[in-house]
Amino acid sequence: MEQMKHMAVALDGPSAAGKSTLARAAAQRFGFLYVDTGAIYRSVGLAAHRAGIDPKDPAAVTELLPTLQIDMAYDADGVQRMLLAGEDVSEAIRRPEISRYASDVSAHPEVRAFLMEMQRDLARRRSVVMDGRDIGTVVLPDAELKVFLTASAAARARRRWLELREKGVETDLEEVQRDIEYRDRQDSRRAAAPLRPAEDAVFLDTSELSLSESVEALCTLIREAMEA
Ligand code: C5P
Repeated sequence: MEQMKHMAVALDGPSAAGKSTLARAAAQRFGFLYVDTGAIYRSVGLAAHRAGIDPKDPAAVTELLPTLQIDMAYDADGVQRMLLAGEDVSEAIRRPEISRYASDVSAHPEVRAFLMEMQRDLARRRSVVMDGRDIGTVVLPDAELKVFLTASAAARARRRWLELREKGVETDLEEVQRDIEYRDRQDSRRAAAPLRPAEDAVFLDTSELSLSESVEALCTLIREAMEA
């Protein structure tokens, strides 16, 4: 593990750009906490799905928020688990239909405000690599390093499809790509905290990079930021 000073690394980018894999690997290398903010939005999406609520209906979603008990826990291997009213929903939130619910509920400013403090609090307490869509622009605007991760939609769809298949979730590659494109459009067009790179973000395009090359590229950026 490499030497650390208190640091926040904001890793933003579109769906399935490999943010979580890279963030987890880099966090482990530097002994930082890895925070997957998408999982938090997914937990709200799952709760809306279970409650039979239209995720696009701001009033219904806003009404749901105060009833939610969302917690994060880390298991012995440092893997983030999501708890909804005490139930471990870490697997349930990964289902493809919940991805759209997450994207829909995350468009409401009330939802973003509700989850903001939880995210900032984690970054105050520990050095973090936090991945999401608006970490560098909104949640941690003072992060020491902001990285905007990209890859082509086709490359992202293929990776996500393989990842789902490994988990035993059988899906159609085209459906995965459509889902990614739906979320790209929605996440970048929404009024509340749209997906866009921070002005001082460093771009990292992984379309042509292997996993280990991508991890090395990210770790190099972190090391440079720590020495700056
Ligand atoms: O990263 P992941 O694909 O798990 O995120 C699920 C959805 O949650 C995204 O499509 C996006 O709409 C939303 N999200 C967000 N802001 C974040 C993280 C995720 O709006 N910081």
